Amino acid sequence: MRTIQNVQAMRAWSREARKEGARIALVPTMGGLHAGHLSLVEIARRHADRVVASVFVNPTQFDRDDDFAGYPRDLARDQRLLAEAGIDVVFAPKPAAVYPEGAVTFVDVEDLSVLLCGAHRPGHFRGVATVVTKLFTIIEPDVGVFGEKDYQQLAIIRRLVRDLCLAVEIVGAPIVREADGLAMSSRNTHLDTPGRAAAVCLSRALLAAETLVADGEHDGATIEAAARAAIEAEPLAKLEYASLVDAEALVPVTTMIDRGVLALAVWVGKTRLIDNQMLVAKAASAERRSA
Ligand code: AMP
Repeated sequence: MRTIQNVQAMRAWSREARKEGARIALVPTMGGLHAGHLSLVEIARRHADRVVASVFVNPTQFDRDDDFAGYPRDLARDQRLLAEAGIDVVFAPKPAAVYPEGAVTFVDVEDLSVLLCGAHRPGHFRGVATVVTKLFTIIEPDVGVFGEKDYQQLAIIRRLVRDLCLAVEIVGAPIVREADGLAMSSRNTHLDTPGRAAAVCLSRALLAAETLVADGEHDGATIEAAARAAIEAEPLAKLEYASLVDAEALVPVTTMIDRGVLALAVWVGKTRLIDNQMLVAKAASAERRSA
């Protein structure tokens, strides 16, 4: 496994691999790796001959300085995990390599970027869309693998690829969870013991909503209220939003006809956690079974 920090060297490696006829997959990460990231690597290996993982804590997607400063950084550990996972290249550039002095060019996926998390984290998705476009431009992968854990991010990347006519296939990867249901996240390491116990309320809220939908509930507000109640029952948790939205457009779903995504953002102390679940309406899931 090679670690490359330089943009030109990364591009040269990719072009050489492509000349040899290899299909390249990219797994973008910010490091602080866990089993969720490694599941993306596994999926990437199924879609390509060579896998590149980027490890880059992207400054432009942080809306709070303390979050950026305190973000877990341990490249040696990440390199070890990625080597064990059978990666070909770790691309770990310095910020100055990705953002040349005075860079003023950004990618903005309008509409989708101001909803859900975008409404609470100004500029976040502009930073994400910009860095992912740069990674696609530098590495020129055939496939990009992104987790459904960041559902809105995945929807934005799909849109970006479509809108900019990029030749990258986007593959979504299911959420990997801890045994108690908490979605794995690099930020979970910030939780203290009571906070870690409290954080289970997110998956509990999603399960409450899912149960309600399985029982035949279609009303968006009722479904959201069930999730909200599960968060509010946890004294250490503070709800930012619980929204049932359309799976592509991410706009609110008032009556669930077929399916919808329930998306949550919750603060546990100073740590902001997100999670989501695709919900399938009872009639729609029964129809699917009989088809
Ligand atoms: P991050 O390092 O947090 O920027 O995440 C890098 C990639 O890993 C993104 O595509 C995330 O959606 C994905 N990811 C993070 N946590 C999980 C998880 N628990 N399950 C699946 N994918 C994840």
